[in-house]
Amino acid sequence: MAYDAIIVGAGYAGAVSARWLAEDGKTVLVLEKRNHIGGNAYDRMDENGVRRHVYGPHLFHTNSKQAVDFLSRFTDWYPFEHRVLGWIEGQTVPVPFNLTSIEKLFAPEKAEHLKQELIKAYGMECKVPILELRKNEDPEIKELAEYIFEHVFKYYTMKQWGYTAEEIDPAVTARVPVHISYDDRYFQDTYQIMPAEGYTALFEKMLAHENITVRTGVDALDHVCVDTEAKKILFDGEVFAGDLIWTGLVDSLLGYRFGALPYRSLEFDVRTEKAGFQPAVTVNYPTPAEIHPYTRISDYGMMMQTPPAGYTTAACEYPYAYDGNAEKGNVPYYPVFTEDSKAQYSRYARELAKIPNLHLLGRLAEYRYYNMDSMTERALEFCRGLKH
Ligand code: UDP
Repeated sequence: MAYDAIIVGAGYAGAVSARWLAEDGKTVLVLEKRNHIGGNAYDRMDENGVRRHVYGPHLFHTNSKQAVDFLSRFTDWYPFEHRVLGWIEGQTVPVPFNLTSIEKLFAPEKAEHLKQELIKAYGMECKVPILELRKNEDPEIKELAEYIFEHVFKYYTMKQWGYTAEEIDPAVTARVPVHISYDDRYFQDTYQIMPAEGYTALFEKMLAHENITVRTGVDALDHVCVDTEAKKILFDGEVFAGDLIWTGLVDSLLGYRFGALPYRSLEFDVRTEKAGFQPAVTVNYPTPAEIHPYTRISDYGMMMQTPPAGYTTAACEYPYAYDGNAEKGNVPYYPVFTEDSKAQYSRYARELAKIPNLHLLGRLAEYRYYNMDSMTERALEFCRGLKH
């Protein structure tokens, strides 16, 4: 085998690692099952002249200078601050729920009182995860917390995950904490930027290196086989002694030996709309599924440096349980963290750890909810630590 490393998957985990190893003098083969690179960050220009994020909205935000410095070698950026409104009792109010949301939903006197109570309890600019806010013993704050839970988190989370907010890992709802602030941006990170020519172009440049060979439309499982008893990797029937970096579904690598791990999937209803058809880039629908069966609608045109004036492309998101064989919901997006699934993942990880030159990396392989920036950082850190 002529390659020093085989990387399965051409998303952030795979592409960042491929580039780092190539620059370290290693020859790298990247196998990607889909017919395109970029993983779920893949985007393309569509018939409306809109850069469509094919697998849902991807907004780059980070405090990591390291991640920005690395990726900036492959793209220019434009500043972009994401804003989201949530549909609550027929109104659209800022999400994360903040002081402006209170002003919009409550009568002036009551709103003023609630804001002061929150500021007194936590201080301005504080971010409080909803499950923590619900534990506050002050009856007025508790009542507000229950209102926010009911109108922002309860049904959205049920729709998104198929579990209640109490059943899944608290870190999931803590991604969108109640924000005691008038700052209505979705993120507060130092860098809030979008790649000037899109994510696909960024990945093309990142993978364009003489030491990297990329093969798309190749299912690695047709070539790679792991034997945990013999502690060996086989590639096309021969022992592969280089590093195999696996960024795909971890359970598939062992033939689902410990059962299929639960992942959540999405389907997108993509439509052409008049530009400005909704009041924000993304509108969330934290309502029961009987009222709105979807979670959010995003306008991809509004994410562009120069949004289109006439028509735009929007996508409405419908969550599904992942099933690779189903007609709908056959793309894995998110690991579904419950106590059971975490234990199930550990069995896979422990078994695969027996093979010293096999490395699990990324959302699907590590069963972690990485953002684009944290995945970039993790891949860089992983490569630096790889023993040669
Ligand atoms: N969430 C919610 N209501 C909202 C927004 C988010 O309940 O209006 C919860 C929900 O459980 C969701 C999680 O917070 O899955 C994380 O939201 P985020 O926007 O970070 O999800 P992503 O963009 O990664 O799909």
